[in-house]
Amino acid sequence: MAAPGLADASNTELPEGSRHDFRHDLSPDAPELENFNEGDGAWGYAHSYETGSRLDGPGIRITLFLSGCLLRCQYCHNPDTWKLKHGTRIPLERIVTRLGHFAPALRSMKGGLTISGGEPLVQPAFSGRIFAAAKSMGLHTALDTAGLLGASATDDYLKNVDLVLLDIKSWDPETYRRVTKQDVAPTLRFAERLAAMGKPVWVRYVLVPGLTDEPANVEGVAKFVAPMKNVEWVEVLPFHQLGSFKWKALGLKYELEDTPAAPAELVQRVLGQFRDAGCNAR
Ligand code: SF4
Repeated sequence: MAAPGLADASNTELPEGSRHDFRHDLSPDAPELENFNEGDGAWGYAHSYETGSRLDGPGIRITLFLSGCLLRCQYCHNPDTWKLKHGTRIPLERIVTRLGHFAPALRSMKGGLTISGGEPLVQPAFSGRIFAAAKSMGLHTALDTAGLLGASATDDYLKNVDLVLLDIKSWDPETYRRVTKQDVAPTLRFAERLAAMGKPVWVRYVLVPGLTDEPANVEGVAKFVAPMKNVEWVEVLPFHQLGSFKWKALGLKYELEDTPAAPAELVQRVLGQFRDAGCNAR
């Protein structure tokens, strides 16, 4: 039965697509995040899913992009995932049924399911139930998160997560706030908790010329992460402009309009900093 004020969407299918698709106003009745109560996670809001991804964990994967995010990263490629109203409201069972169709192929390609966003931990009950279903199908699972809501990932939740892709967007708290409009501390505490649990992590660092390329800032992340034996990789992701059209389409002010893509020499310098600190970096 549909929640009060929401259309019955029990026949809704989540559109297959890509992280570069623009979606907006698909659920105009959706609540703002501060009023959102997902209940038991039998329904959720999602942007799209992508098949054949090689970017979001080992093997060939399905990446599911959920709606909702509390950060406001200046370089966000997917501002159309920030608000629930831009996503599709969809029953859990539809996602699980669709995942089941792909499960044999994903297992044979040594891939699995990655849940990304937006921020999957805005919907911990929904994403947690999808992970549980994926594990019951014998799939490898990965959570792609910025860590701000790491406290919402209970130990039970993390039992169904094989790998965490953890974005650490800056070491310097002022730069972190400038980049994301949020505090870095919850992300660092989440990283420490994952290290204490021995949960496999790939740290991701988005490299933006003039914003996150300060050597001292990179070194701070590198020295923080290097002693963590659970961190298998640090991935340096060079900034690009592929998401800029979404900012314009949503009427948002895009601060990085004139920022160039991260050049190869800069990427090599930053990779060198992580490797010099003792990290596996790529
Ligand atoms: S955490 Fe991800 S989805 Fe959220 S604003 Fe930052 S880049 Fe965008």
